[in-house]
Amino acid sequence: VLNFSAGPSQLPLTVVQKAAAQLLEYGTSGQSVMEMSHRSSTFLEIVRETERRLRSLLQIPQNYRVLFLQGGASLQFSMVPMNLLKPKGKAGIIHTGTWTKKAIEECRKFGECVVLASGEADHFHSIPKDVIVPQDLDYVYLCENNTIIGTKYKTLPECGHVPLVADCSSCILSEPMDVSRYGLIFAGAQKNMGIAGLTVVIVRDDLIEERPELPSMMSYAVQVKHESMFNTPPTFAIYMLGLVLEWIETEFQDLKALQSYNQRKVALLYDYLDSSALFKNEVKKEDRSMMNVPFMTDDPQLDAKFIAYAQAEGLVNLKGHRSVGGMRASIYNGMPMEGVEKLVEVMKRFEEAQAI
Ligand code: PLP
Repeated sequence: VLNFSAGPSQLPLTVVQKAAAQLLEYGTSGQSVMEMSHRSSTFLEIVRETERRLRSLLQIPQNYRVLFLQGGASLQFSMVPMNLLKPKGKAGIIHTGTWTKKAIEECRKFGECVVLASGEADHFHSIPKDVIVPQDLDYVYLCENNTIIGTKYKTLPECGHVPLVADCSSCILSEPMDVSRYGLIFAGAQKNMGIAGLTVVIVRDDLIEERPELPSMMSYAVQVKHESMFNTPPTFAIYMLGLVLEWIETEFQDLKALQSYNQRKVALLYDYLDSSALFKNEVKKEDRSMMNVPFMTDDPQLDAKFIAYAQAEGLVNLKGHRSVGGMRASIYNGMPMEGVEKLVEVMKRFEEAQAI
């Protein structure tokens, strides 16, 4: 099937094939990666190589640490304020939908959280612009790609000296990014980077502070000190990230080429949506996501009919998030051009059948 799920999502076929080929025995180790000690030299080499590839593709500067954690992107909603809020300090958040709402709620458990701007009045169909960042904040937080509503920051706010923290769960590795503009980036792996169970955190050295009062597992300083191995890390998910990174290097060489492919893929769908009399996408054009494309008809029953029609054609998980309804096509790195071509073809056929 072609899987348009928002995550866990479709992986590149060759990645799954390689994982399958190595499932029983990794190299000549006599073991599956699933069975390996995380402290074995074979697994440590997998981790080192995975981090090297990630650093090289994202051009991560030397003064940033890479962490391979668990707890999903959701745990970062708590870990960020736990580690970055100073005593009596405050965070600023730009509110762009469900995922920032959750981040605000978690942040407020630990301290003050100021909403600097909100897209709520516009049903989150656009990204707030010209946000003024007070310089007394401990950090500014945003969600760079809003998976549910389908918006994406095309330019980052000017933060001055205040560190920028970004939830990049649904856009990381889809395009190049200037890591030096951020204080901390985090992302769950199950969309563009591999499988569920792994969260990647990229954090600038000066933000890593000893916080002895925190549970050890929640402390960036502890995780950095132990090179993500304070406890048993999500070994298989780290290995899968390595395979995805290797695939990007082999197929595209760099993220610029992958971005261009992703742009061409999604343009097929947006171009059709803009010309369709049946389907529409409500997001402000300049803020449209390259990864998640919500769309709908004017009739929820027709939406349900389309979802069933597409499913019968082997296009699965097109149902929109329960909070917005309609449809959503998530077109991550693992979705090939042919998949989007097929989706557009099926949508056109459905639209023509309605017109008869
Ligand atoms: N942030 C964004 C932008 C997401 O899309 C998601 C999940 O879809 C999350 C956070 C939560 O991720 P997790 O399920 O890994 O906690």
